[in-house]
Amino acid sequence: MAKVLIIGAGVAGASAALALDSAGWDVVVVDKARRPGGRCATRRLAPDRHSPWFDYGAQYFTARDAAFRARVERDRAAGVLAHWSPAVCTAEHGVGGWQLKRSPDERERLIGPEGLNHWVRYVFEQADIDVRCGQPVRRLSRTSQGWRADLGEHGQFSADAVVLTVPAVQARRLLGEHAGALPALAEAERMLLPCHSLVLAAPALPECEAIFVKDGPLSWCADNSHKAGQTRTGARLWTLHAGPEFSAAHLEDTPESIATTLTREFAAITGTTTRQMRLVRTHRWRYARPGPAAEPLADRCQAALDERIVLAGDWLAGGRVEGAWLSGAAAAARLA
Ligand code: NAD
Repeated sequence: MAKVLIIGAGVAGASAALALDSAGWDVVVVDKARRPGGRCATRRLAPDRHSPWFDYGAQYFTARDAAFRARVERDRAAGVLAHWSPAVCTAEHGVGGWQLKRSPDERERLIGPEGLNHWVRYVFEQADIDVRCGQPVRRLSRTSQGWRADLGEHGQFSADAVVLTVPAVQARRLLGEHAGALPALAEAERMLLPCHSLVLAAPALPECEAIFVKDGPLSWCADNSHKAGQTRTGARLWTLHAGPEFSAAHLEDTPESIATTLTREFAAITGTTTRQMRLVRTHRWRYARPGPAAEPLADRCQAALDERIVLAGDWLAGGRVEGAWLSGAAAAARLA
């Protein structure tokens, strides 16, 4: 049985793992994080399983492609995905200050009833994929058989092929002298832009559960308490995402300073005060959303070196969760 190592246990890694497993490969997935999910990241307010949760990475996703939609429908029937129809608003800064307006739409948005992270974990678990977390790959080297991954204290892993679903900058580092074989890595730094994320316990807003922010540091705010399957308590957990320009300009700022700026901004937009808010979590996503060099590829992935190394990820397929899923599937098809 041919062996494949998938580096990265996010959405692209999950989709590649599933497809390669069905195609008869011996699949092992490694991830440096403590658990799978990548940017589908969820936490609970307290350790107990009834405590309210919040998504602090991807908030929801949309599904347009027929094959992806079919998968989504199955997972919805299984109860690991659900529709989310928040009261959507836009916030714009005009001459008279902030304008918060309802902006209804008919988009079908999907969430995980226990958070998006739960959905990715379900995908791996349902197919019984061997996922090894807490195992960062240090380096990849070519062998006569294929590839060898140096896993530091976790030893070495040899495989016939490797699917790399990590951000471009990390893929280039792992490949070292071989990176030149993959044109998509030439502008690695400009492939993905950062996003500062903040979670606040803050008041509920009337007729407003999600905000697309058009001006200033913020780009998105969402009240997690309105998602299906959520434990309803007095706490409203709002996730705030800063826009790419602010996030890049303040990449190395302290979490405290980022939190102060974004909390003030959120209070101004919503007409509340910072005294009504409590900081729950800060997170810096260094590689969050497609940047200026991330042109979607027709193949949605890129293979090189005897087609035994394949790059996959949302940044090769138009961004979004759907892009990541389709890119992982395309990488698997390339190997199969
Ligand atoms: P989508 O179809 O809901 O949104 C696409 C874009 O349309 C939004 O960015 C927003 O500007 C606009 N939009 C949608 N509904 C609107 C409404 N009712 N009123 C006003 N504007 C509206 O979702 P998608 O295309 O699947 O994209 C997912 C979302 O995730 C996008 O908003 C994208 O920007 C965001 N994203 C964020 C990050 C991050 O790091 N914060 C990373 C990747 C994607």
